[in-house]
Amino acid sequence: MLERYEFRIPEKLAVRYLSGVQGVTLGDSETDFKIRKIVVKKDSKSYSHVEKAARALYPEPLFYGWRIIRQYTPEEIENARLFTLEINRAMVPTGRECGAKYDDAEACPCCGGGSKLASELVLDLRNAPSRADFASTLAGEWIISQRLTEILIREKVTGFEAHSVMHIAKVEHDTIDFSRVPAGRELLAHANSLGLNDWQIGVWGNSSEMRELTRKAVEQYRKLLNKKSINWRSPPAWYHLRVRSKRLKIEDHTTFGKRPFDLDEKGDFRCIQAGKAEHSVGLNRLSELNVLFDSWDGSDFSCTSQLVGWRIGISVPRPIIVISQRLRRILDFHAIKGCEFEVARL
Ligand SMILES: [Zn+2]
Repeated sequence: MLERYEFRIPEKLAVRYLSGVQGVTLGDSETDFKIRKIVVKKDSKSYSHVEKAARALYPEPLFYGWRIIRQYTPEEIENARLFTLEINRAMVPTGRECGAKYDDAEACPCCGGGSKLASELVLDLRNAPSRADFASTLAGEWIISQRLTEILIREKVTGFEAHSVMHIAKVEHDTIDFSRVPAGRELLAHANSLGLNDWQIGVWGNSSEMRELTRKAVEQYRKLLNKKSINWRSPPAWYHLRVRSKRLKIEDHTTFGKRPFDLDEKGDFRCIQAGKAEHSVGLNRLSELNVLFDSWDGSDFSCTSQLVGWRIGISVPRPIIVISQRLRRILDFHAIKGCEFEVARL
């Protein structure tokens, strides 16, 4: 594994502290504010330079943006059993801002972990990324596309459920009772013969093969109730990804902190109940994820019981998503977009 660090450092600090380190200067000609982007290999001379400068300036920050890039050989990828899955497409605003209800009765007063969604997820789906299959809000609400959801069901991927996401404008929507109309009954009979459960029927009804029959059922239902129109969500649809498998326990030697070279010794962003389920172990993960082997139930989708992040405004701590080798291959094969992987150690 090759580990590289990318830093974005204000040019004036780079000139002063990092004269010998190569980088690319990115500038805004109007404001004259320049940033130097530096990518260094871990354990290189340049990395030590950045580390020394960061420690000299502490607690003032040396860099504004940073990212750790872990690159694996094909063998390392093939031999791994689990991977972290990071969703890299952002979605705004959050569910709470769109009217989704949360139960905060058991939310932690320290880190903010443990709020429970108490309604359907409501989002402004006009803002969903058009060319991605995964997206996440700042509140850690994960959504997946119609295409991806159909693939996951077809491949019998385990450890997840995919519930409909309500579009913000359609909170007062009609519930359609498919069993009351002929086309709906045909749809349900077909779904039952496939052994689909409630949420899977919703996904399947929106699929391209079934769309026509679903449309017919909605039309029949409209006539039955003598309604002019029915507020039926038309595809493309998005689904709320809920991980339903046993929670993974993070091993103690996984490193968390505020940023590289700052492991948050004072614990500003480590919950006083850190280590327990639904509490934050730190603001950011800085090393590869290590999880306890015995805590994995073999599911394709899992997530950690401990959380990462902090309640800051609308942002809340969230679990880390972990997927199996089988699921990684499926996502890779179908060129699923909106996520990146890293090896997780057992
Ligand atoms: Zn907490």
